[in-house]
Amino acid sequence: MTFEALGLHTSILKALTEAGYTAPTTVQAQAIPAALQGRDLLVSSQTGSGKTAAFMLPALHKFASAELQAGGRTSNQERQGARARGERPRFQAAQPKMLVLTPTRELALQVTTATDKYGSQLRRVRAVSILGGMPYPKQMQLLAKNPEILVATPGRLIDHMESGKINFDQLETLVLDEADRMLDMGFIDDIEKIVAATPETRQTMLFSATLDGVVGNMAKRITRDPMVIQIAGSATKHENIEQRVHFVDDLSHKNRILDHLLRDESMDQAVVFTATKRDADTIADRLNIAGFAAAALHGDMHQGARNRTLDALRRGQVRVLVATDVAARGIDVPGITHVFNYDLPKFPEDYVHRIGRTGRAGRNGLAISLANHAENMNVKRIERFTKQLIPVNIIEGFEPKKSASAARPSSRKPGGWKPGDNRGNAAKPGQRTFSKPGAPRKEGGFGKSTRSDDAYGARRSYGDR
Ligand code: ADP
Ligand code: MG
Repeated sequence: MTFEALGLHTSILKALTEAGYTAPTTVQAQAIPAALQGRDLLVSSQTGSGKTAAFMLPALHKFASAELQAGGRTSNQERQGARARGERPRFQAAQPKMLVLTPTRELALQVTTATDKYGSQLRRVRAVSILGGMPYPKQMQLLAKNPEILVATPGRLIDHMESGKINFDQLETLVLDEADRMLDMGFIDDIEKIVAATPETRQTMLFSATLDGVVGNMAKRITRDPMVIQIAGSATKHENIEQRVHFVDDLSHKNRILDHLLRDESMDQAVVFTATKRDADTIADRLNIAGFAAAALHGDMHQGARNRTLDALRRGQVRVLVATDVAARGIDVPGITHVFNYDLPKFPEDYVHRIGRTGRAGRNGLAISLANHAENMNVKRIERFTKQLIPVNIIEGFEPKKSASAARPSSRKPGGWKPGDNRGNAAKPGQRTFSKPGAPRKEGGFGKSTRSDDAYGARRSYGDR
C-alpha cells in the first residue's frame, strides 16, 4: 500500500515524502479511504500508530481540492479587502471548517505541528491551537485570521464560543482525538455542548484507546453510521517495548534503583512518571542534584514553561523528564529509550499511554515500573488490561528485602538491554500474550526465550482472576 494508491492530492504526497513517510501505517490505510468518502469513523489503535495523519490527511486533501476550485476563502478576502480600503474590519467570528478536540495542550500543539508538516505544500490552509494558558490577545490574533483548522482543548474553546469569537456554522469536519482521555478528564459536558453547536451535516471522527463504555455511548450519539476501525490488539500491544517491574521495599530503595537504571549506558532519554505534581518537582530537583539533566512537566506549569521544557527534551538538553499523566500524552520524542513508572498509574489505560512514550516511530523501548510489594494487585490489574505479563526483574545489589522468594530474578542480566536489542532474544518474555477465551493460545515465538515460571515467581497465579 502506498499513499499514492490512497488517492491523496499531489501536494500532500510531496509533503509526506519530505516528512520521510514511505507507506501508510495500518490505521492510516484503513481510515483514510473511508474518511475521504466522507464517512464517520470510530477508531481505536495503539499510541504511536499514526492516528494524526489518519484524520488530518483526508481533511487536508479536501482543502487541497477546494483550494484548486475556489482559489481561497472568500471570507478571508473580504476581511483583507476591508482592511485595504482602510475600513476598520468589523469583528467577525472565526468560522473554522475543521475542529480537532484534544485532551491536553501538548497534544493540541503536536496535532498543529503535524498539520503544518502534512500541509506544508498548501498555501492557504492554516491550523491554529486554542489552548488554556495562552494569552488572550494572542488567541484573538490567531482567531482574527479565520483559520481553516482549529485545534483546541474543550474548556478554552467553550469560552470563545460563548463570547461569540468562534462559530461553527461552516464546520465540515469534527475530530475527537483521545476521546477516552477527554472523558476521563471530565470534559463530557463541554464536548456535548461543542458538538451541539456544530452542523448535523458534519463528518465526525473519533479516536480512542477503547470504544467501550462511556466512550462508546458518546460515540454512538455523535456519529452517523460510523465505520468502526479497531486495529488488532489495539491500545495494548506495544510489541517493540520491553516491560519490567522491580519490586521495592521503600522510597529510598526505589530512588536507588531509579538512579542506577538512569545511569544505564543504553539510556538515551527517559520519562519518569509520578502520581503528583509535587513529586514531579521534587524528583526532578533531586535528580538534578544527582547530576542528571532532569526537568519536571505537569499541569501546574505555565504553557510557556511547558513548551520550553518539551523543546529542551526534543533537543536532547533534558535527558530525564519527570512528568504527571496530564503531561504524558502527546510527547513524541524518538530519543526516549526508557519510561519509568515511579508511581504506578491510577488507571491501567494510563499505563499503556505512559509506556507509549518510548518505542516511537518503530524504535525499541524499555518500560520499567517500580512497585511496592503492596502494589502487586495493581500490577496484576495492568497485566489483565494489557493481556501481557510484566516480568519481575531484580538487579544484583538492589534486591528487595521482602518477598525475595515471591520475585526471583529473571534470567536476564542487569544492564543487558540495548535499544534495538529486543527482537527475538531473551528480552521477549515481556511479550508473552494471553489468549482471549476461544482464541488460539499463542505460545512460542519468543526466540530463545529462557523464561521459566520462576521469572514470575509468586505471580504465576495470574490465571486465577
Ligand atoms: P498516534 O496519534 O497514533 O499516537 P501519531 O500520529 O502521533 O500517533 O504518530 C506517531 C509517530 O509516527 C509520529 O512521529 C509520526 O510522525 C510518525 N508517523 C505517522 N505516520 C507515519 C508513516 N506513515 N510513516 C512513518 N512515520 C509515521
Ligand atoms: Mg494521537
